[in-house]
Amino acid sequence: MGQITVENLYKIFGSKPQKGLELLKQGHDKASVLEKTGMTVGVNNASFTIEDGEIFVIMGLSGSGKSTMVRMLNRLIEPTAGRVLVNGEDVTAMNDDELVKFRLHNMSMVFQSFALMPHQTVLDNAAFGLELAGVDKAKRHERAREALAQVGLTGWEDQYPKQLSGGMQQRVGLARGLAVDPEILLMDEAFSALDPLIRTEMQDELLKLQEEHQRTIVFISHDLDEALRIGDRIAIMEGGNVVQVGAPDEILQNPANDYVRAFFRGVD
Ligand code: ADP
Ligand code: MG
Repeated sequence: MGQITVENLYKIFGSKPQKGLELLKQGHDKASVLEKTGMTVGVNNASFTIEDGEIFVIMGLSGSGKSTMVRMLNRLIEPTAGRVLVNGEDVTAMNDDELVKFRLHNMSMVFQSFALMPHQTVLDNAAFGLELAGVDKAKRHERAREALAQVGLTGWEDQYPKQLSGGMQQRVGLARGLAVDPEILLMDEAFSALDPLIRTEMQDELLKLQEEHQRTIVFISHDLDEALRIGDRIAIMEGGNVVQVGAPDEILQNPANDYVRAFFRGVD
């Protein structure tokens, strides 16, 4: 199970977040909060539900709040206000120990920069999430081998990251996420640094894995083609606000505003 409910979630960056929150609740917009208090609104009052087993794409221009949003789901960023529930359990109320367990069993994250360690082998890199969680070496190597096999990297276990192409390094990053076998996988622009051909290949890989495992995947992208290709539903963010959530067809047929319309221009 991997259902996520986001309830009235806010993130305000700066020294007086509560002051910024108060202004937002009074109806001031992001620009006026910045002008009045110097606070930056990262996410403004977001509420939506991500269903178990779907690929949920969060799309929007740079600076629209996508990374802030996804990092609040597992509290890599602490929300200023609001709640995140996973399978009905309140993530925002967890203590540090509970959070560590939660990140291990329920939600793991794949980063754009791959975040690989150059002096460790591919196998150890893939096993890193498990190592952090205190899984013993034999067990984590076994699970890392399985995850590397899932992304087509059997035979590369003893190599070092620099011996691999960019696309293969991204696969190692993905294997690291998969090795912990999470219910929910968070992917922040995970494919954005790849060249187009390899990127399409990774999208296919992800869709294939999804057929086998039906995880809940929260996938951030600023690319419409990618969003349409892999997303079951798409959320569109603009200036910290979630302006529309829906299936690609629904959004195409009924865009909520000009920003959404501009994103979807040229698609039939
Ligand atoms: P995206 O991922 O869509 O590009 P971000 O979530 O990174 O957007 O950023 C949303 C807004 O919050 C931007 O205006 C950004 O400058 C601001 N922001 C993000 N992180 C911080 C931070 N640590 N401190 C201050 N402002 C931040
Ligand atoms: Mg980002």
